[in-house]
Amino acid sequence: MEAVKLVADWDPRPGYALSPQETASGKATMACHVFRNPRLERQTVPDPSPGPGEVVVKIRGCGVCGSDTHAVETDAHGYMIFSGPASFPCILGHEYAGEVVEVGPGVRNLRKGDLVTAEGMLYCGVCEACRKGWFNQCVRLDMVGFSSPGAYAGYIKAHEKHLWSLNGLAERLGSAQAACEHGALVEPVGCSYNGMFVAAGGMTPGSHVAVFGCGPIGLGAIALARATGAATIVAFDVAQTRVESALALGADEAWDVRALKRQGGSESEVIRRISKGWGADMVVEAAGAAIQTMPEIEKGLAAGGKVVYLGRTGERAPVMLDSLVSGASRIVGARGHAGGGVFPHILRMMEHGVLDIGHMISHRMPLLEAAEAVERSKSREDSKIMLVDAG
Ligand SMILES: [Zn+2]
Ligand SMILES: [Zn+2]
Repeated sequence: MEAVKLVADWDPRPGYALSPQETASGKATMACHVFRNPRLERQTVPDPSPGPGEVVVKIRGCGVCGSDTHAVETDAHGYMIFSGPASFPCILGHEYAGEVVEVGPGVRNLRKGDLVTAEGMLYCGVCEACRKGWFNQCVRLDMVGFSSPGAYAGYIKAHEKHLWSLNGLAERLGSAQAACEHGALVEPVGCSYNGMFVAAGGMTPGSHVAVFGCGPIGLGAIALARATGAATIVAFDVAQTRVESALALGADEAWDVRALKRQGGSESEVIRRISKGWGADMVVEAAGAAIQTMPEIEKGLAAGGKVVYLGRTGERAPVMLDSLVSGASRIVGARGHAGGGVFPHILRMMEHGVLDIGHMISHRMPLLEAAEAVERSKSREDSKIMLVDAG
């Protein structure tokens, strides 16, 4: 089959001490310290064949993720920006959905022809974190498209424990292709759900919600807040197209932060105005720009408010922790989307018309043009580029 692989040089940063596991496995704990000169190459590779409990999925939809963009972008020294665990070369792509075309021995819940989407966090199920149900914190975590072959390819093999059926969604939408494209969005929206509802324990209906950063995770947070009874939702980004997507997904107000600042305004003022002075009960940080966002989040947070921190940045941010004391408020971090009922609950909401995230798709390209799509994603104008193979 044809596949789009990320290739990079194993060249640990001067002064970075590799752990014995990193040396033995070739898997870096933080890719940004080890992999240099990343590039995407289209290659012909062997077709996958399913082992016990596994199926082969023909890819029909795969989203381009900000992590993919970070994997090809580099710092001043040529090291990739992506900071998660990774082992390259690896077929990129992890937000996928498709059709089961081959079923391995011992598979219990899936049949040939089923439409499925997949969790991208390949947890071991054996370590202490996993056995406490903290699958996203697995100490041996592999990630589809970074340390396990990804979905920018004709086919992928996956264990059935990571797959969820899209048959019900296909019935609702009346189209297998639409189900696969919407189904591929469950992975990024799952990260928002996991942060807001699993890690932070959710928000009460009638909450004021503010979302910083309107990429897919932020847009997912907006759609989920709307679907679950937020009173008001205000969103902030620096790209005008993403501001428009935020409105399309249910924000009451969305601001281009740079335009807002030019008018002499600030994010916290907007939050205070829309909440009649009370502040935001839940703030989702999906910008990964803590240095800029945290001072405004602090000023806009309601008493008892929750900050759900989902963006990633390697930098330290100034935070006035005393305001957490006075407000009895909290900051909760989260990553991933495995476990916690995340996938099945989002799929239920989609199947029953409570959540429509299809508006997130702003551009479609053929699956094997993944390299061009990742290049396009660098402009951060699209809310979601969906790679499709309708054949
Ligand atoms: Zn992703
Ligand atoms: Zn584990």
